[in-house]
Amino acid sequence: MSVGDPVVLIVEDEQPLRRFLRAALTGAGLAPVEAATAAEARSLAALNNPEVILLDLGLPDGDGIPLTRELREWTQVPIIVISARGHEADKVAALDAGADDYLTKPFGVEELLARIRVALRHARQADGGPTETVVACGPLSIDFARREVTINGDAVHLTPIEYRLLAALARHAGLVLTHRQLLREVWGLAHAERTHYLRVYMAQLRRKIETDPARPRLLLTELGVGYRLRADATPPS
Ligand code: CA
Repeated sequence: MSVGDPVVLIVEDEQPLRRFLRAALTGAGLAPVEAATAAEARSLAALNNPEVILLDLGLPDGDGIPLTRELREWTQVPIIVISARGHEADKVAALDAGADDYLTKPFGVEELLARIRVALRHARQADGGPTETVVACGPLSIDFARREVTINGDAVHLTPIEYRLLAALARHAGLVLTHRQLLREVWGLAHAERTHYLRVYMAQLRRKIETDPARPRLLLTELGVGYRLRADATPPS
C-alpha cells in the first residue's frame, strides 16, 4: 500500500472473507479499510472518504440495503454489494436503493477487481475528470458528442429511443442498470413499470448491434434484474 492508492472500504462481518478481500485488494494496488458492522461502516465511510465501498448485506447490527439508502443521502461513492443473497429481488432492491453493482458470493477475485476498476473509472469521471465522449466496447463505439454509433467502424442507424437506451447503458458501461433505472432514464418516471418496453427495444438494439442477437456479447442480460453493457474490449470466453 502506498500514499495515493485508492481507498476501498470493505464492509463484511465474516473475518476470513475480510482477510481474503484485504489481501486481494492490497495485491491490486488498492488501500483497503475494514468495517465489520453497519455502525463501523457509517463512521469509516465518513472518516476515510473511500473511493469505493464493498458492502455485505447481512451485517450483525443492520441490513445493507437501508445502509445503502442512508449513505446515498450524503455520498455518491460507488457501492458494490457483495452478498450471498442471489435472489433477483435482493439485487434489484440493492441497486434501486442506490448501489452501483452487485456480486453474488462466491465470486472470483478477477471479477471483483474488474468491477472495482469500472466503479473507480465512473467515479473519477463523475468527479469532473476527463469525460469520455466516446465509449468503445469491442467492435462497438458510441460517440456521445456526435450521437454516432458504429460497429467495426460502420455506422449503425438507431431510432431515438434505441440510442437513448444504448447511451444510458454506455454511460454506465460495465455496471448493471435495473429495469426501473433504464425505464426512468429512457422513457421517464411515469413508465417505470413497463418492462415490456425494454424487452422490445433491447431485442431491436441487439439485432442491430450483436453478431448473434440470440447470444449477446455486448448487451448482457442480468436475469430478472436488468442489463449491462460489457465494459472491456475482451470478448467473453
Ligand atoms: Ca454477512
